[in-house]
Amino acid sequence: MVEERDVVIIGAGIAGMTAAKELRDLDPLVLEASDRVGGRIWSQQRGDLAVSVGAHMFPPPDSTVGRMVTEYGLEVLPIPGSMLNVALRGELVRDSRPELLPFKLPLSVRGRASFARAGLKVKKIGDEYMKLAVPRPDESSADVRMRLLQYGGDRSFADFLGPLHPEAAEIYRALCNRTIAEPDQISEGSMAALFGHVWDSGDLGRNMRGGSGLLPDAMGRDLADHIRLQTRATRLAFDGAGVTVGYEGPDGAGEVRARAAIVAVPAPDLAPFMADAMTPGFAAAVDRIRFGPHIVTSIRTDETEAMPWDDIYSILTPDLGFTMFFNHANALNGTGAPKQGSVLMVYTGADRGRALLGKTDDEIQQHHLASVDRLFPELRRHIVELWTLPWEHAGPFGAPGRWRAQETLEHGLGGRVFMAGDWVSDFVSMETAALTAVDAATEVRALIERGGPRTPKAKPNATKRDPEAAKRVQSFFGDSSSREG
Ligand SMILES: Cc1cc2nc3c(=O)[nH]c(=O)nc-3n(C[C@H](O)[C@H](O)[C@H](O)COP(=O)(O)OP(=O)(O)OC[C@H]3O[C@@H](n4cnc5c(N)ncnc54)[C@H](O)[C@@H]3O)c2cc1C
Repeated sequence: MVEERDVVIIGAGIAGMTAAKELRDLDPLVLEASDRVGGRIWSQQRGDLAVSVGAHMFPPPDSTVGRMVTEYGLEVLPIPGSMLNVALRGELVRDSRPELLPFKLPLSVRGRASFARAGLKVKKIGDEYMKLAVPRPDESSADVRMRLLQYGGDRSFADFLGPLHPEAAEIYRALCNRTIAEPDQISEGSMAALFGHVWDSGDLGRNMRGGSGLLPDAMGRDLADHIRLQTRATRLAFDGAGVTVGYEGPDGAGEVRARAAIVAVPAPDLAPFMADAMTPGFAAAVDRIRFGPHIVTSIRTDETEAMPWDDIYSILTPDLGFTMFFNHANALNGTGAPKQGSVLMVYTGADRGRALLGKTDDEIQQHHLASVDRLFPELRRHIVELWTLPWEHAGPFGAPGRWRAQETLEHGLGGRVFMAGDWVSDFVSMETAALTAVDAATEVRALIERGGPRTPKAKPNATKRDPEAAKRVQSFFGDSSSREG
């Protein structure tokens, strides 16, 4: 029997669940391929800390995600200290203002001059980007996204920088790798977004006490009646005035027919179930989206005494086997809580990350730990837990020309299939993903209100619910992976 719904949502990451929350009164059905919700937000709680292989920096309380954090009674702690720490050739330069880095880093005279010259250009585009990011009166978030994508959107960051001294090039390459790309793959504007958001905004973000995964877990529990785990969409087809989505679930194949659909899966996951539904123009737009890898290892340690990384949140590591080092225990400093060990995260991005795809977790850990030894030799003897996740598609980045896809992506398909997720936006983050979901939900609501609901609202009938599936979701949230382990 084909189920009937007003709206079906594919993917239960932050985007899919935000859309489901917005449309709760329309009784949405969310199909999620994996056995957990949260997608690229994934952590496992260890007391106030958590091992984490996904998103960790949260936006402010007055954002879409920030409001959900408050609504679910979760606690985020401001990240103290500086993001601008760089380890290079065995030296750790701490807490630097960006303009002082060329003088503090161990560089030759020529390398220093080249790095400083490029730094002035980069500062300018970061400032310009942040000015452009301020919404203008009567503008929609789609207007802002388009404006930001167009900014520096046709030129690669490498072309923008021009020739660099190899020592300067090494540092800018690491900054691009942090954003999952190489300098000749990513647009000037996308790097301006990184410089603007991460270094020039003055806001270092916040970490969630107990781990980022507590947010998707809370959303998943709240929406449990609507979510079907281990249920992968295998086909999406237009069907008269609606959409039919075929899926493979724990009990076999099924179909749901809905008036509208929100597709909240990463762009590389679209083709397997949507290839036939895409127009050539839409397929060409999706083709412009690039995703890159992050090979992540989360490291938990058990020390109770002070360590040299305690007051540092992040370190850029251009000449090590990972691109970034994060200390997620840093946000607990100043809360008065006794030290419970540390949780650190390292990741290798872009081509250097790609080279690690296909290696075993053990090989990746040995690769990462060899570099940890060079950075903090005292760390290894305190390690009690390692968790590695090689994300092949860790996130999207804006390649030159990416903005040309935007209008098509914002419109969706056939007036009834709408896209949501970080790749539909100008910047990779949980907040931008959630915002696109709010917009997609607004489109769906308008469509359904125009045509009248397919089914009486909030009146589930036998064909609309699968009690076994609801139980599976409940039991999953009953012993959630993000709870204390
Ligand atoms: C290592 C790392 C660090 C990050 N750090 C930060 C950070 O500090 N701050 C920040 O804001 N962001 C960060 N991000 C980015 C952030 O995690 C993402 O932008 C955001 O979580 C994307 O959410 P989404 O819902 O768009 O996609 P996803 O989280 O990828 O969710 C998509 C879901 O769709 C499901 N799916 C796929 N195909 C199908 C199918 N056929 N049928 C059904 N379901 C399907 C997937 O299983 C998944 O659950 C980080 C990401 C990574 C990987």
